[in-house]
Amino acid sequence: MKIQNTDVLIVGTGASGLFAALHIPQDLRVLMITKGQVRESDSFLAQGGICMLRDEDDYESFMEDTLKAGHYENRRESVDIMIRSSQGVIRELMDYGVDFARKDGKLDFTREGCHSKPRILFHEDITGEEITSKLLQAVQKLPNVEILEQVTMLDMIEKENTCLGILARTEEGEHLGIQAEYTIFATGGIGGLYQHSTNYPHLTGDALAIAMRHGVELEHIDYIQIHPTTLYSKKPGRRFLISESVRGEGAKLYNAKGERFANEVLPRDVLTAKIREQMEKDGKPFVWLDMTVLGEKVILNHFPHIYERCLEEGYDVTKDWIPVVPAQHYFMGGIHVDRDSKTTMDRLYAVGETSCNGVHGANRLASNSLLESLVFGERAASSIVEHWERANRSAEEFSKLLQKTEVCVCRQEKDLADTYKQEVLGEIERERQAK
Ligand SMILES: Cc1cc2nc3c(=O)[nH]c(=O)nc-3n(C[C@H](O)[C@H](O)[C@H](O)COP(=O)(O)OP(=O)(O)OC[C@H]3O[C@@H](n4cnc5c(N)ncnc54)[C@H](O)[C@@H]3O)c2cc1C
Repeated sequence: MKIQNTDVLIVGTGASGLFAALHIPQDLRVLMITKGQVRESDSFLAQGGICMLRDEDDYESFMEDTLKAGHYENRRESVDIMIRSSQGVIRELMDYGVDFARKDGKLDFTREGCHSKPRILFHEDITGEEITSKLLQAVQKLPNVEILEQVTMLDMIEKENTCLGILARTEEGEHLGIQAEYTIFATGGIGGLYQHSTNYPHLTGDALAIAMRHGVELEHIDYIQIHPTTLYSKKPGRRFLISESVRGEGAKLYNAKGERFANEVLPRDVLTAKIREQMEKDGKPFVWLDMTVLGEKVILNHFPHIYERCLEEGYDVTKDWIPVVPAQHYFMGGIHVDRDSKTTMDRLYAVGETSCNGVHGANRLASNSLLESLVFGERAASSIVEHWERANRSAEEFSKLLQKTEVCVCRQEKDLADTYKQEVLGEIERERQAK
């Protein structure tokens, strides 16, 4: 089996992984792998925007909005870190060429559900693509970073609670051992475990299953966010999100009789429950969303991609109401990490949606996740640099452990994806039952 060596291994090329890579000094070698193509990550799908602390006067209200949405189960320290880091992160994004919407030359801010003030920066309705493509361009220019596409992490190689690297499978179906001084899991969410989700189907929570098998602590694994408004369709596959900022800007929800039945900017979990209740009462698999009230100018300027996509499905949102239904969207729980994104295993970090640093509590506030992914991605990189020390593990030792792992994986490789899926779903259910 081929073995590759690196200083820092980053599993996942979404916003969190890319931002971590950008903060590793160039005298260290970084290897990034991704299960899909490099642009196939949820970070590219983010529509609404990214939060930023506008000024000191907004601090208390940003904190309170985040805690309230999270049912006060958030780690306050993590929320503080995220809010305090936001202006620096946004400056950095703009230095990488990210183009946020402006009004009269100044940054323009929008509002989404549960935000008491407009504090969300956006780029049309494709903020994630704008941010992540600029980060990707910056990473691709770095001489010390190599990216391997279509390479899937199958298992971790560890000894005595220290991560030494991973076993992966290449696009050609060959096994690849990657020995690393430090490893960062940036593997995103778990939407691929569900029939209806806004996520890419290849995001199946592999890192969670692997972490569980190796005794790495998880946290709040049953905290799963359902997005209240995705475009209803009978077709299989990823559900198209109708961003919350549509409702933040004034779009209305109607029942089968065309009557409003809920405050459209309620927290996502509360609104989802109201929509499901209404669907039950109406005996319909959807409720209606009316964007026409926003007017053609706002729709075409702020939401051009939602407009286009709905048109493809046969709805002109400047004239028609659209059917919407809740779908799995975000994962608040994950691999437990500390304020520096460090897991309970030595030399192993976790960032972005696969991690749980406590920012989101029981329910994520809209547009906090890109920010959280970037802030804590950077913190993982900084922590690695701060604690940098070679493990001095021999290639022979790694090779022996790798072979042992390969034997175990080979025995179940055909069913491995399904086994991991069942293990994660089983753990989510166990956690739910325990409450
Ligand atoms: C439709 C949609 C709209 C959204 N809108 C917003 C928004 O407006 N604002 C906001 O803040 N957030 C939004 N979010 C959430 C946000 O996009 C994500 O939480 C965030 O981008 C997660 O980034 P990440 O780096 O953790 O993961 P991702 O960007 O999902 O990247 C995960 C990476 O891990 C790789 N990977 C997974 N498993 C393996 C494996 N076994 N081996 C190798 N590689 C693997 C994947 O290939 C991918 O490269 C939205 C999400 C969706 C789906």
